[in-house]
Amino acid sequence: MTKKPKFQEPAGMHDILPGEQRYFQKVLDTCENIADFYGFQRIETPILEQTELFSKGTGLSTDIVQKQMYNLRTKGGDYLTLRPEFTPGITRAFVEHGMKNLPQPVKFYSFGPLFRYEHSQAGRYRQFHQFNLEVIGEGGPIIDVQIIQIFYNILQELKLKNLIIEINSIGDNQCRPYYKKLLVSYFRSRESALCVDCRRRLKENPLRVLDCKEEKCQRIVSQAPQLIDHLCQECHHHFKGVLELLDEIELPYRLNPYLVRGLDYYTKTVFEIFSQEQKKSEDEKEITVRNALCGGGRYDALVKLLGGEDAKASGGALGIERIIELMREREIKFPRAAGPQVFLAQLGTMAKRKSLKLLEDFRKARILTGESFGKDSLKAQLRTADKMEVKYTLLIGQREALEGTVLIRDMKTGKQETIKLDKAVKEMKKRLKK
Ligand code: ATP
Ligand code: MG
Repeated sequence: MTKKPKFQEPAGMHDILPGEQRYFQKVLDTCENIADFYGFQRIETPILEQTELFSKGTGLSTDIVQKQMYNLRTKGGDYLTLRPEFTPGITRAFVEHGMKNLPQPVKFYSFGPLFRYEHSQAGRYRQFHQFNLEVIGEGGPIIDVQIIQIFYNILQELKLKNLIIEINSIGDNQCRPYYKKLLVSYFRSRESALCVDCRRRLKENPLRVLDCKEEKCQRIVSQAPQLIDHLCQECHHHFKGVLELLDEIELPYRLNPYLVRGLDYYTKTVFEIFSQEQKKSEDEKEITVRNALCGGGRYDALVKLLGGEDAKASGGALGIERIIELMREREIKFPRAAGPQVFLAQLGTMAKRKSLKLLEDFRKARILTGESFGKDSLKAQLRTADKMEVKYTLLIGQREALEGTVLIRDMKTGKQETIKLDKAVKEMKKRLKK
């Protein structure tokens, strides 16, 4: 048994090794391309924010704020928190930089790490990445639909199948308080059958009971009153608009009247996108495995809550690690980035020196060029060239170094030819063009 090294990754946090980077790159490129088409611009906010931004923005009664934040106190005495989600930071930036004065709405996208102190398990980490969208300064249903459409397009472009969009409206300050009362009185009469967490939620945030994953709670939830039956006129109208537009663009969605999402600031539309699969369990039973890939919704009160002028807003985020895990599980292939076309081999000290200089000339000419300058054996170098599948190997041996020449070998035909060293780049350009 090999001994564990003294230092390891912190629990729930993972190195992204070079072999995995191409998945991240592929997902990010796809996200950026699509977001760019829809007129979104990148925004980056600090990884640390004032703790109060999250307790106020994300909300005191949420799991994120109650259990999942990494807090720290600086030497200067400030209370800061590693961001557990993007929305409060971006909303702060919108207010702080007076972006209300820009043409509205402003559309932002972001990509980066987030931190939540979770029970780490497959698909649930303490440091993970999201691709996030926010549209601030526009209240119509079409924005909600466009955000869902963009996320759906990204997942489709990444060739993920069996996607399910779930959607609901959780109303606003006009209609939600009354519904909450109805809900509390429904759950009160069944309180003893709820899990411990839900009994607490019932006091602090009864909507969150709807979200509980425990089977006994879900059974009770399935008979609970539904908010969509109690929406005020404005929310009803908005939700109808959202559903009509989803129909119009033929996005396959499912109405889930108990979808609430874990954050306090949502108003009206909330949605999640899942991937769903039939699998065999350990005892050979058919089971349905659902994986939440994306979540979001409208947050019309947040900008004001964080000190700005009233501005309606909507957004959402994709979980990058979960997407990559699915891509790997389903063996989704995509073309590898182009590798080097030319390899520089060298033999002897003087040749090594000349190759080092030649490599720079190739870089300036933007020709991808491989080498293994650390190796002295020609055989070993040619093996590397083979592995890289280059079209040409350029060899500078002792004689070539003295004469100022280089030997070009066509790796396919085996044909060799000696040319002047200072013509090498030009010659390669010509041959690679063919
Ligand atoms: P869940 O219900 O799975 O806890 P959530 O509602 O907390 O998700 P959001 O805050 O809406 O998640 O984040 C959007 C997406 O980010 C999720 O759909 C998921 O793909 C991903 N995500 C959330 N938390 C984690 C985590 N701890 N590790 C990895 N990915 C995560
Ligand atoms: Mg969560």
